[in-house]
Amino acid sequence: MRICLNPGHDIHWDSGAINATLGLRECDVVLDIGTRTEAYLEDAGYEIKLIQSNNLGGECPALPCVVDTANQWKADLFISLHCNAFNGVARGTETLIYQLGSSAHQLAAFMQKSIVSSIGTIDRGIKERPELIVLNSTMMPAILIELAFIDQNDDADLLVHHADSFAKAIATGLINYREGLT
Ligand SMILES: [Zn+2]
Repeated sequence: MRICLNPGHDIHWDSGAINATLGLRECDVVLDIGTRTEAYLEDAGYEIKLIQSNNLGGECPALPCVVDTANQWKADLFISLHCNAFNGVARGTETLIYQLGSSAHQLAAFMQKSIVSSIGTIDRGIKERPELIVLNSTMMPAILIELAFIDQNDDADLLVHHADSFAKAIATGLINYREGLT
């Protein structure tokens, strides 16, 4: 089974959200968690392609295109990793999908449960976001996990000091999804 992992944003071109107080950039936080997730899933026998790029769907042709890479590689599942940011107060984990009731929704449900139960983040649920390129232009079930809020200091602390727990929880969520299907 082939999994395309997409830590959001780009360490050279797009930091994503930041926490200025703690000196954190979303692009670095999700790359760290994504790389750790890759290792756990490879240990579990999955084939992984990890791609972080500022070219999601062709808008930045000099860089590798995220959705083309996933589609051409024929990934079975696509998982994008992001951190949320709002007002410095909001907290929690949410998973975004193209459409409720899809197979991506099932995967999202296993992910939410795994992350919230093992890390203890607030459960903000599963939400439809059909306008997101990584969800609407990927040919396989695709989810985007907003792991926690980087601009809220308690959530940010979890992202940094429990990066490995997030990775383990993502891998477990995926494995549970697979086992739930069989
Ligand atoms: Zn993001």
